[in-house]
Amino acid sequence: MNLEDEEITFVEPVYAPWDGRRVPVTLLGGYLGAGKTTVLNEMLARTDVPIAVMVNDVGDINIDAALIRRHDGDTLDLSGGCVCCSLKNGFLEAFGQLRQRPEPPEFVVVELSGIADPRSAAGLSNTPGFVLDSTVVLVDLDQFMELEGPESVVADAVRTQVRAADVVLLSKRDLVDQSMTARVTARVEEIAPGVPILPAASAHSAAGLIGLGARRPILDVGSGASLFDQYRTRTIEIPGTTTRAALDDLLDDLPESVLRAKGIVQIETGELLLVHVVGRRRTVESLPMAESAEPTDLVVIEV
Ligand SMILES: [Zn+2]
Repeated sequence: MNLEDEEITFVEPVYAPWDGRRVPVTLLGGYLGAGKTTVLNEMLARTDVPIAVMVNDVGDINIDAALIRRHDGDTLDLSGGCVCCSLKNGFLEAFGQLRQRPEPPEFVVVELSGIADPRSAAGLSNTPGFVLDSTVVLVDLDQFMELEGPESVVADAVRTQVRAADVVLLSKRDLVDQSMTARVTARVEEIAPGVPILPAASAHSAAGLIGLGARRPILDVGSGASLFDQYRTRTIEIPGTTTRAALDDLLDDLPESVLRAKGIVQIETGELLLVHVVGRRRTVESLPMAESAEPTDLVVIEV
């Protein structure tokens, strides 16, 4: 037997802090100057649950971190590199720091650097104790056509960010007229077909985007209203006798206005499925028995 031909498989140990609970991670991306810090502050101002914030700045001095308002969680300052490339280890270490705590934060929000590729950061966010919730990308209505235009050296980076979005949020709306809003919207639709674009009147809407796709089984529509009062929520009852095919049909037929849908569905075999829709991204996964959850209605959030 030739040992050299043998494939060596390294199985990573499964490590599940906090009894297997996974904290939802929201990535906030968008090019330099798109208003990410403003949006983040809006998010924090609208909720008092503990949110751990990571702020990434490629420079050595993290200006944005200094601008983040005080909140119940903490701000982890990630400066001197970009979490999607040169500061990957620093990013993972920040999750490691949170993991040391006896109690997890409710949510993690990461303000990406203006040049970051959110897809890379998204991959890193699925780490023990954490799960990617959604990627929200800001598009600056005032700058976008120029940044993405034929003369721009950053056009590729800007398009990459938009393509990575689960939801696009338009910022700087007060600086442009309606025709510019329409042009940018049409261009974003070309670049990222099917991604919901929030025609937000202000950055306020962003507050509703934290953690809505969260993994926790029951979304408490009543008491959690402050998190998403820009949106309509409704529930769709799913009979316990449904099949996987019928569930897929139902999800296929959700209208485009649906930003998020989540729930725990029991199919006729008894298996519990966690359904998680964010924009055009959809996951339906078998729920590990350890989570011992009950089926829920499908909670749908629409603009
Ligand atoms: Zn990077």
